Amino acid sequence: MQLSDSFGRKFYYLRLSITDVCNFKCEYCLPNGYQHDKKNCFLSLDEIRRTVTAFAQVGTEKIRITGGEPALRKDLTQIIQTISAIDGIKKIAMTTNGYNLAKKAQEWKDAGLNQINISVDSLNPHSFNKITGVNRFDDVMRGIDKALEVGFDKIKINSVLIKNFNDHELSLFLEFVKQRPIEMRFIELMECGETNSFFEKHHSSGNTIKNNLESSGWVLNDKAKDDGPALVYSHPEYLGKIGLIMPYSKDFCVTCNRLRVSSLGKMHLCLFGDYGTDIREHLQQDSQQQQLISLLHQSVATKEVSHYLQQGNTGQTPHLASIGG
Ligand code: SAM
Ligand code: SF4
Repeated sequence: MQLSDSFGRKFYYLRLSITDVCNFKCEYCLPNGYQHDKKNCFLSLDEIRRTVTAFAQVGTEKIRITGGEPALRKDLTQIIQTISAIDGIKKIAMTTNGYNLAKKAQEWKDAGLNQINISVDSLNPHSFNKITGVNRFDDVMRGIDKALEVGFDKIKINSVLIKNFNDHELSLFLEFVKQRPIEMRFIELMECGETNSFFEKHHSSGNTIKNNLESSGWVLNDKAKDDGPALVYSHPEYLGKIGLIMPYSKDFCVTCNRLRVSSLGKMHLCLFGDYGTDIREHLQQDSQQQQLISLLHQSVATKEVSHYLQQGNTGQTPHLASIGG
């Protein structure tokens, strides 16, 4: 039976975090870098296989691998291969900071990765290095070229909108996707527990971009099944598209189609929810799949209608690296 909640939303998309560790220090996420915690033991390959198998049995068709930085896992290629062999999984996507994409794109594609999102908050190398805390702009750009060459089904660039930082770069990003089949996704900065002062200074609404696009010939597309809450625009003179993710807008949660499992085996019904339901004890043996599926149904039935971000309630999420953004 398909996973669905009491508001009639169906969930066929799982965001699976495979590590909290990251090698970047994005100012809005991990400004002091990842703080190692020896107690943390991230999901093993077998635990990942059991998680995805159970989700696939209740209707999940798409998996997004995320983190932290998923490319830091040495067994990433095996993880992709394992997920792609699971019955019912039609698409595997991954979100990465792109630091080793140029080297690995072909290997990941051969393993079964269909879509890739690469995070690029600025096309100005100096600003990019400043916001991420590392000197990796050229590596990431090479990675994007390689991803295009390898030919993933979809390539997206994620860019967090940051006031007084990249809010003047719209024309640069538009130019970038003019001749490239890439979807630029502008994501409104979200408030998290550990970075709320950054949020207060730098949150910028996506409405400015929305108005700008709508007055210059960009047309809102009908929603594709896996768009979820994103608004996607296209323009006849551009190969690429523009997507907007505006979690503070009214009715953002109405089209929610995703669930999350953290790298420590907690299922989260919302990025900004509670501590999550621990599913790990049911991931230890193949024989526990039915118990796991019952727990998934029970938990999803309690999903709330919306997050409470507008009221400043960020839930228990210290930063998105801890839950898989
Ligand atoms: N490390 C990978 C990366 O950066 O692409 C994957 C994990 S990261 C948490 C996933 C996405 O969440 C990135 O595109 C990042 O820019 C975005 N993100 C992180 N913190 C955010 C915040 N506070 N508000 C909005 N987006 C955020
Ligand atoms: Fe790392 Fe991604 Fe967070 Fe940046 S946004 S610190 S790359 S997890």
